[in-house]
Amino acid sequence: MHKPAGLQADASKANPKDLPSTDKLLRQPDSAPLLREHGHTLVADEARKLLDGLRASALAGALDMDALGPAALAAALRVRVEAKLAPRMRNVLNLTGTVIHTNLGRSLLADAALSHLLAMMSGPNNLEFDLVTGGRGDRDSIVEELLCTLTGAEAATVVNNNAAAVLLTLAASVSCHPGGREVVISRGELVEIGGAFRMPDVMSSAGATMIEVGTSNRTHARDYEQAINERTALVMKVHPSNYVVQGFTSAVGEAELSAIAHARGVPLATDLGSGSLVDLQAYGLPREPLPQEMLAAGCDAVTFSGDKLLGGPQAGLIVGSKAAVGRIRKFPMKRALRMSKLPLAALEATLMLYLRPERLAQDLPTLRLLTRPLDAIRALAHELQPRVAAAVAPRFDVEVVALQSQLGSGSLPIERLPSAGLALIPTGSAKKGLGTALDGLAHALRHLPLPVIGRIADDRLLLDLRCLEDAAAFSGQLPALHQRLR
Ligand SMILES: *Cc1c(COP(=O)(O)O)cnc(C)c1O
Repeated sequence: MHKPAGLQADASKANPKDLPSTDKLLRQPDSAPLLREHGHTLVADEARKLLDGLRASALAGALDMDALGPAALAAALRVRVEAKLAPRMRNVLNLTGTVIHTNLGRSLLADAALSHLLAMMSGPNNLEFDLVTGGRGDRDSIVEELLCTLTGAEAATVVNNNAAAVLLTLAASVSCHPGGREVVISRGELVEIGGAFRMPDVMSSAGATMIEVGTSNRTHARDYEQAINERTALVMKVHPSNYVVQGFTSAVGEAELSAIAHARGVPLATDLGSGSLVDLQAYGLPREPLPQEMLAAGCDAVTFSGDKLLGGPQAGLIVGSKAAVGRIRKFPMKRALRMSKLPLAALEATLMLYLRPERLAQDLPTLRLLTRPLDAIRALAHELQPRVAAAVAPRFDVEVVALQSQLGSGSLPIERLPSAGLALIPTGSAKKGLGTALDGLAHALRHLPLPVIGRIADDRLLLDLRCLEDAAAFSGQLPALHQRLR
């Protein structure tokens, strides 16, 4: 056929008919090690996809003949197979400055929690088996006694997460109440936690009729008193964890509100969100309300997260009176929201750490990171500065800077912890395309074998070193970073 001028066939470029068949590719001796390691199914599947891609390149006239040698094909096939087997969930270095980062998996588990988790999962366990009687047990009993000891509660139960704990507490309360399904809540506490968890929607999902009282900034005792009637199943307080209302404000505290509710025969529940089990002020940190205080103030049920300030696995903890917790435990939805044995093992070991409060700031990673001395963080920044500077030169300068870490996960939203880190600042030529340079740097950091996640602010990329405990894991990657930036 006549070829138009300029489209002469190039001998170095492959033609689709130069490609081997899948079978032939798999029969090549170079493919044998891959087949031995991973078996036929996966390797053949990836071989087909590899050849499809090569065929498309060949049709476009963009495939070099060199790419079709047996060794080159086997190497390309190995890359595909190994990429397929690389887990999507990976460890990263959290240098964002947000200690409990929801997008990065929130709290890190303590060593004790990791080893208990691993030990319990490596064989059968007594998840729901009573070793004393030999009869059926209840998984709640694994942590109930501990939670009661730590909070002073009469009873406790645990579910999948705190969102589930709130939903279940509401649903169980309204469905057990013969008079009606009303739940009274202050307009100042209609929180949105993020990810579609908004208090009014949770109320309706739970089948509750929400009765709002007060205003956004002020709610008074009389507002609650006027709203409570025979249809009221529950009075609900929500700790506005991720925002603060300042200025002309007033709210009714749990002690006063429980007296109002109980005088009318109505229980009071409070959702703390984060709910630290120790007074953070003792560690020089800002204060968060404690579940034990809420119970002492008369709350019938208190809900909080397992993986925020508590520093454990994803979990929703409910502590309270025997009656309130009993209602929740018997409610059918509990079965759908129950905790799995994996986090339950980690939760048990995490709670045990609280029995030795003197060691907590060492043993519990979340608290260890939150209380890390500023001097130590700054010293680490100075130690790493020259090495990072060498890795990102000449396109970026590196300075040691003072930073502000935050707790994260909506805990103490306006509090900041003085911290230190490195600022990577575009130089001369990179300055022109400043945004692009910073995005490119952030991309390079994310594509390291152990991805490094920082943040971009004020035309610089910031690496907050508060959460960098394994400095060698970071600095070991600097040569790879240098390569990527060339
Ligand atoms: C975080 C939070 C929740 C949800 O807790 P999860 O454990 O993330 O499900 C509920 N209420 C408040 C006030 C919170 O801060």
